[in-house]
Amino acid sequence: MNDNILRIAIQKSGRLSEDSLKLIKECGIRFDNGAGKLKTDATNFPAEILFLRDDDIPGYVEDGVAHLGIVGENVSEESCKDVDTVHKLGFSKCRLSIGVLREAEYNGVQDLQGKSIATTYPRLLEQYLKSHDVTADIHEISGSVEIAPSIGLADAVCDIVSSGSTLLSNGLKEVETIFRSEAVMIASKHLSPVQQDLLDQLLFRIKSVQVAKN
Ligand code: ATP
Ligand code: ZN
Repeated sequence: MNDNILRIAIQKSGRLSEDSLKLIKECGIRFDNGAGKLKTDATNFPAEILFLRDDDIPGYVEDGVAHLGIVGENVSEESCKDVDTVHKLGFSKCRLSIGVLREAEYNGVQDLQGKSIATTYPRLLEQYLKSHDVTADIHEISGSVEIAPSIGLADAVCDIVSSGSTLLSNGLKEVETIFRSEAVMIASKHLSPVQQDLLDQLLFRIKSVQVAKN
């Protein structure tokens, strides 16, 4: 393994992709991002960019296969991987919320006691419920969570919300926000001294870009 370059993992295609690429470019790092590529070399900075599914990024960073990654805090926290969160990036802001059927009576989190809740974030949900002394039946499902209550699969959902329109269009109302998220840069805990120095340079550039925007 080359200890003198930074391997940066970003989402291949999805809500984080465009802003992640933009940030790297705004830091003055140039590379050829030919469509469909899984890996590309930067031409003017000792870095490689890996294009991965967002859910896989924390694991790759923990293992040191990638040295840095850009993911939603929601994904990083849910993964429970042993990585450092080195910087908040200010994009892909969203929240993880609990929704119930619009016509359901809801007076507070204790009303979830004994209920079934469908989610792709079982760990974050479990932590939240535990901190409120509520025990519920958590159904982990991998997609289309919002449809669960209307087809009788669960009493409630816990999913990513930004405007709330997806909840509304599935006959749900948002009743609790359990986590607020934005894109973050995560780093491996096993960087070489050269990689740590490259990370410091990159963070300096990112902060300058952020200051210039505000
Ligand atoms: P992949 O195929 O890489 O697994 P995905 O479908 O899991 O992608 P996306 O929907 O692209 O993921 O979302 C990636 C991240 O963007 C989420 O984990 C979250 O942090 C953030 N995000 C999700 N939905 C929104 C939204 N509506 N607005 C802003 N940010 C969002
Ligand atoms: Zn994903």
